[in-house]
Parts: sequence; C-alpha cells; structure tokens
Amino acid sequence: MTSASRAALPSRAEQQPGAARRVGRRLAGAAGALAVALVSACSPAGTTGAAETSGSPSTTATPTSTLGTPAPQGPPGARPRKGEVRPIGRTGPLPPVISSIPTKRKVVFLTIDDGWEQDPGFVRQVRDQRIPITAFAMRDAVEAKGTPDESGGPARYVGAGKWGYFRQLRDAGVPVENHTLTHPNLRLLGYDAQRREICGSAQLVKKELGTRPTLFRPPFGNYNTDTLKAAKSCGVSSILLWTATVQPGGKIAYQVPDKKLRPGDILLLHFRPNLARDFRILVAKIKRRGYELGNLQAYLDAATPR
Ligand SMILES: [Zn+2]
Repeated sequence: MTSASRAALPSRAEQQPGAARRVGRRLAGAAGALAVALVSACSPAGTTGAAETSGSPSTTATPTSTLGTPAPQGPPGARPRKGEVRPIGRTGPLPPVISSIPTKRKVVFLTIDDGWEQDPGFVRQVRDQRIPITAFAMRDAVEAKGTPDESGGPARYVGAGKWGYFRQLRDAGVPVENHTLTHPNLRLLGYDAQRREICGSAQLVKKELGTRPTLFRPPFGNYNTDTLKAAKSCGVSSILLWTATVQPGGKIAYQVPDKKLRPGDILLLHFRPNLARDFRILVAKIKRRGYELGNLQAYLDAATPR
C-alpha cells in the first residue's frame, strides 16, 4: 500500500538498471510537499567492523573497542555547532512542517519509515557502527497486519519481532517516532479521524517503548491544517517531511534538478527487504561526497528553539 502511493519524480531519480518497480505519481502537497518513490532493502547479513557500544544515552560504563580504546558515548551522529543552524520561523501555534534542516554544513539526516521488514542484521549495523537514524513506526507494519511492502525484494523478516524490534532499535539509540496506526491519506479524513490515527499511534509507542513521540510524519507526506491541529493535540512538536528518498541499491531519488545532496537534506528510507545492504551503499556514498550524518534531534532542537 505504501509504494503505490509514494509521490515520485522518476525523471529526476537516478537511473538504475534493474531497479524495477519504481512507482510514482506526483503529489500536489498542501504545502508543496513532494515526495519520491523510494526504497531500500535489507540483506540478511549485516554488520562490519566498529566497536560495539550500547548506544544508550543512559549508559554509564565505558565500553571499549577490541583495540582497547574507549568507544564514543552518547547519541550517535554529528551535532550542530553553536550558531550553525538558522531557526525555523514559526507562523503560529501549530507545529512547524520541516523537510530539511537550515544549515550550510555538509550534513544529512537518515529517517526510516513503516516497519514491515525487521531484519536483525540492520539493528546490529546501526548499533555497532553508531549510525544516527530516526525511525517512524506505523502500527500495521510493525505488527504485520495487511500486505507487507516487498519493494526491495522478497521479505524474510516481516513482523519478526513486532514492537520488540523497535525496542532493540531504541536500545541502540534510535528515536522511534509517530507515523500513524494504519497509514491513511490524512487529507481524506476529518479532524477526529486524524486525531485517532495520530494520538492512537503516540499512545501505542509510549506503551510499547516507554517514550511518547514528539515528531510526526504523515503518510505519503499528505497533510492539511487539521493534521497540524490534531498532531499538536497529541503532543507532536514538529511535522517531519523529507527532501529525497532512497531506492533499492542505495540510489538517491532527489527532488532537485541538480541531483546533488544538499546541506541539511533529510533522506527517507523504509524497512524493506535488503535494507542493510542498501544502507551500507548509501552511507558509503554519503561519506564519499564529504557529508556527515547528523543527529536529527539535536539539529531540530537547534532549529526550533522554544
Ligand atoms: Zn509510510
């Protein structure tokens, strides 16, 4: 259900021979929100190298790598320097809609949506390599209700751990945020129905993971004013969109004509088959281009001062 509805700009996507099933249609976003068809994948294997740490901010012990050097502490990812991030203007009391972080530093952010394919190798990869990601969990995917998204290949781990998988991600330092219960097009729902989707998801994540989400990503990037009002009433502080999506093979589908990463870009992936493999390709590509991976929450805190 997800892929068919993703907006896409295929002509701007990097061309990849054999990257079948690129599906797309253009979304006329309420606030110019465009999305692109995407994907990712998860190979069974997974991880390489790097010292293992708990990744938990609450860790007090000092883990060491196999080389005996102290492993880094705290949440993973680059953090903003003082004065680096321009504040995002607020036009009223409703949560801001954010699709990129206003910075000139070569830093991008990785976000991963839904939760169908739950490859344990991907958790190890994120934890062991201290890769900063933010997950947007959708109940029906996490709990494997309905038809899984197999855009990245045949699924192997659909619903394998259900919410336990997201507890593992949480324990690896990954914030788990709100992406509704059933992945509807919110623009087709009234306020009350939108609120049930958003508040219901917030309560479920709090019950399962212990932390109430503060970020909300509307399915397909579709939202309206009722969405912002409902999200605010459910405790959401920001609506998170994206600037580019990642397709099978780690290819980036840009929404800008020059097909380049830009400082502050937010990339969208999905928990789909072969995610671990595609993720390795993507992370290497980002670093090759001279970009760092940023800690989204730290940058949002800098961009949206209270
Ligand atoms: Zn989604």
